[in-house]
Amino acid sequence: MNRHYYHQLSDQSIAQQPLDANIARDLLSSDAIELMPLLNAAYEVRKEFFGKEVTIHIINNAQNGFCPEDCHYCAQAKTSKADISEYSIKSDQEILAEAKNAYDKGAHRYCMVFAGRGPSRDRVEHLAKLIRTIKSKYPIEVCVSAGLLDEDKAKILKEAGLDRLNHNLNTSRKHYPHICKTHTYEDRLNTLNSARKAGLQICSGVILGMGEGVDDILETAYTLRNIKSESIPVNFFIPIKGAQLTGQPPLSPNFCLRALCLYRFLNPKAEIRIAAGREIHLRSMEVMALYPANSLFLDGYLNAKGDERSKTLQMIKDAGFSIQSDHSLDTLITNEISAHKSDQQDNVTMAVMKDLKDLRPQYTP
Ligand code: SF4
Repeated sequence: MNRHYYHQLSDQSIAQQPLDANIARDLLSSDAIELMPLLNAAYEVRKEFFGKEVTIHIINNAQNGFCPEDCHYCAQAKTSKADISEYSIKSDQEILAEAKNAYDKGAHRYCMVFAGRGPSRDRVEHLAKLIRTIKSKYPIEVCVSAGLLDEDKAKILKEAGLDRLNHNLNTSRKHYPHICKTHTYEDRLNTLNSARKAGLQICSGVILGMGEGVDDILETAYTLRNIKSESIPVNFFIPIKGAQLTGQPPLSPNFCLRALCLYRFLNPKAEIRIAAGREIHLRSMEVMALYPANSLFLDGYLNAKGDERSKTLQMIKDAGFSIQSDHSLDTLITNEISAHKSDQQDNVTMAVMKDLKDLRPQYTP
């Protein structure tokens, strides 16, 4: 493809015009489209709306396990035999201490994740109280992931000051029954609709590498565009020993980067996040993902560890990006290096699981 082709991709996306479906498919699979000019074209769009800033998110696995759902990719599903240390919801004190820690470590957004089909009214009231306290104490954005939610419950969270509700679509409507049988794609869309009606911003993304085809990836990207998701985490499937879904072939870094470009072109103003599995699937090309994406998770994922904080922060700095934080990138890196422990991480393709100390850093029995 010539230079005009790539310029047109950027110009069209910046003008917020949709991408033709055939072109979108080609971006993922055609050898005629080279990776470097494609990344550059996606970077033009990222730069237009987000400059060179990276937004850091830190997750709190606020409750581990006891989930009645069967999401096949998840270590906490009722069907999973993964060796996890289950615990019910953390104390308020612990959740607040982790919010402070997230802020201190440079996070712009603190994401609290609660396993389960959906929260009871009492749980929602409790979350609302927590959100109010966090928002009054720390200048940090708050996101909650708590399963299926109706509009009334979403409104309670909105009134408490919640910024965003996370609820991932994960895959296409057609592929959804292959990754979950206890709730439907429609249930997921209804929750996102409730959040929208309540005035919340939406965070909804995808997990690539769960046996889906190119058309499933395209459909999810177009759906997220249609619902105007403000935030799109692009996860790459992490194989977890004992979870229901295993044996998926690894994705290539080239494909992962193309997928990030596709999501950027189709969702030019959305926060595109390099989410779970970046370390496993992007490997040596990880830094290139900062060109289409403007956000990432620091400090691992729900149950799987990620790169050390110092390595991720250094990667951002080395590539010449800055972070959206009250703390300077240099200070954060210096702090991490001085606190660095020499706990080695094996270069394995299976997830390295968090232990209780990782999951409950502020807990004192
Ligand atoms: S993804 Fe959420 S709802 Fe699904 S099994 Fe895991 S914790 Fe439960």
